[in-house]
Amino acid sequence: MEDDRVKNEAMEIIGQFQVQPRLVVFDLDYTLWPFYCECLSKRNVPSLYPQAKGILYALKDKGVDIAIASRSPTPDIANTFLEKLGIKSLFVAKEIFSSWTHKTDHFQKIKNRTAVPYNEMLFFDDEDGNIETVSKMGVTSILVHDGVNLAALRYGLAMFSQNRSTLEKNKQRWRNFSKKTSSSEIGEL
Ligand SMILES: [Mg+2]
Repeated sequence: MEDDRVKNEAMEIIGQFQVQPRLVVFDLDYTLWPFYCECLSKRNVPSLYPQAKGILYALKDKGVDIAIASRSPTPDIANTFLEKLGIKSLFVAKEIFSSWTHKTDHFQKIKNRTAVPYNEMLFFDDEDGNIETVSKMGVTSILVHDGVNLAALRYGLAMFSQNRSTLEKNKQRWRNFSKKTSSSEIGEL
């Protein structure tokens, strides 16, 4: 019941934005669930942050694909938990492996797998280093402090829209500039 209420609210929030990401990527530990899965065993019964499930289902229903980028050193436990939670099949890509980089290799793989450009992705993670690095790749990246929730979703979608409109404005500016410099005006300079 609670999941349904969150899902409806999440769908309403998503509907408020004209531009939407094509793919939303989530970290696992301390973003979707409140623990490091490497510290647990496959026999444990995992649970997500209270609003995570509703948000995942709302994105799916709105036609936005979802994926995972996790540096967990125990992908077998992570995958078992995703299965136990009944959400494993929701994700179009699951990149779960430890890495020395701040997830640049995870995102390269996700891009290759989904063919979605970085500037059409939105990413949630609880680690500063990942947010900084991945946002430099062109992905709108949002730091979460207490897991993914409706407030983080709203903020993320707002930041995504803002980044897209800045991008469009810059493109337009560049078009105008190149039109000017290639036209007769160049003779007037
Ligand atoms: Mg994390």
